[in-house]
Amino acid sequence: MNHHTTATAIIGAGFSGLAAGERLYASGHDFLVLEARNRVGGRTLTKHYHSDIKLELGGQWIGPTQDTMYELAQRYGVETFRTFNAGRNVLDLNQQIKTYQGLIPKVNVFSLLELELTLRKLERMAKQLDTAAPWAVSKAHQWDNLPFSEFLLRQTCTSAARKILWAGLETVYGCDLAELSLLHALFYIRAGTSLEVLLNIDGGAQQDRLKGGMQGLALCMAAPFQERILLGSPVQTIVRNGDAWHLYGEQQVVHAKHVVLALPPSMIAQIRFEPPLPQALAQKIQGIPMGRVAKLLAVYETPFWRQDGFSGQVVADEYAPFQTVFDVSSPEHRFGVLLAFCIGRKLELLFQLDKNQRRDVVLHHFNRYFGAKAYQPVLYEDHTWTDESWSQGCYAGVYTPGLWTSAGHVGFSALPYIYWAGTEASERWYGYIEGAVLSGYKAADAVLNAVNS
Ligand SMILES: Cc1cc2nc3c(=O)[nH]c(=O)nc-3n(C[C@H](O)[C@H](O)[C@H](O)COP(=O)(O)OP(=O)(O)OC[C@H]3O[C@@H](n4cnc5c(N)ncnc54)[C@H](O)[C@@H]3O)c2cc1C
Repeated sequence: MNHHTTATAIIGAGFSGLAAGERLYASGHDFLVLEARNRVGGRTLTKHYHSDIKLELGGQWIGPTQDTMYELAQRYGVETFRTFNAGRNVLDLNQQIKTYQGLIPKVNVFSLLELELTLRKLERMAKQLDTAAPWAVSKAHQWDNLPFSEFLLRQTCTSAARKILWAGLETVYGCDLAELSLLHALFYIRAGTSLEVLLNIDGGAQQDRLKGGMQGLALCMAAPFQERILLGSPVQTIVRNGDAWHLYGEQQVVHAKHVVLALPPSMIAQIRFEPPLPQALAQKIQGIPMGRVAKLLAVYETPFWRQDGFSGQVVADEYAPFQTVFDVSSPEHRFGVLLAFCIGRKLELLFQLDKNQRRDVVLHHFNRYFGAKAYQPVLYEDHTWTDESWSQGCYAGVYTPGLWTSAGHVGFSALPYIYWAGTEASERWYGYIEGAVLSGYKAADAVLNAVNS
């Protein structure tokens, strides 16, 4: 068993843990980062294939109002590029294919009206929330006990409006809409600026990507303090003894005064605490399961759909194995890449098939939209985060109905010198990489304040 003593132990080398490390390093503070995986980046993962193909299997996009991400990219000399967003989009409804331009698909006037009114209502309601205390809004209990899906069903009666809302919003939230409360849906909107920003490519959260891939930025952040990151070092038990915390893994124990938990709640719930976490806190972190998202990617010799005037974007109903499709080709290579998001119940169904069968199902649908060339990818890849032991899902933890009002205010303050980071600890851009980085900086500032006070 190796023993290490440090002032601050950061658990997790995702963007939040790296941001905390970056700030502590800059201030000359002593720290160690313990990371379970054999890589940094957490829920971002840029996989390199032969022929220079790089695919983003995890978080990839940034957009306006995510100022910290743009600053980071600039600081490390990482260039950004725009997501392709021109041409006709496809709407796959009731096994019929239509095309449209812009954000809202072409459907009958009643459905259009319902869509517009529902989106506007969500924007209005979200504006009432203070993201530091979502449980304090006047209708908090009513909104928190209502599953988001139920709210949407009450707002709409046309099947087209419902199907479009379901595909679009499941892509935003990364889970079935019955799994989260209306209050959490509104908090997420407010934390991410507005629903319009969350949904859009241009001017929205899907606007830009990083050359070299998102994980490349994580590697840049880690580089200056590489020797302080212990990879392959999952923390299994955290013991309070005397005035220190003792973090036990299989091969090492780390003794530290301060501990930053740069982890999603579901991963904190896997760690055994001695003494045990206060009951209310333990119940809270267990009440925030991860969303369920898989990425399905097909790489082609060229983005051939563009020549036919298609944007590569698709919104699909329950007959397709995914909710939405995007063109995620990169100017760094000549290939065309289509990315489909497969979420919630669709993920459970699709991943009962083996990889070849999944490929056939996905390409069959791409062929319906873009023609026979879709059957000839140079590479098909898919990846589900529910199978990753150190994430157990994504994009983020989902507050189940009733949780914000019963336990939203419960935190780690009863535990001396423990700080919670991670995108799920952020009041701004919850669920996104920007939120992770902001939470890491905040936790590091709290450590430094405690040291200096
Ligand atoms: C498919 C997908 C698409 C996404 N798309 C986007 C997007 O386009 N834009 C965007 O902004 N966000 C996106 N996200 C979300 C974004 O990736 C996350 O919000 C962000 O990366 C979370 O960072 P984090 O540091 O909070 O947590 P994590 O990245 O989860 O980091 C936690 C780290 O802790 C480690 N760990 C876990 N348990 C232990 C333990 N016991 N001991 C030691 N280490 C442990 C994990 O291995 C991990 O490295 C997406 C995520 C996924 C998976």
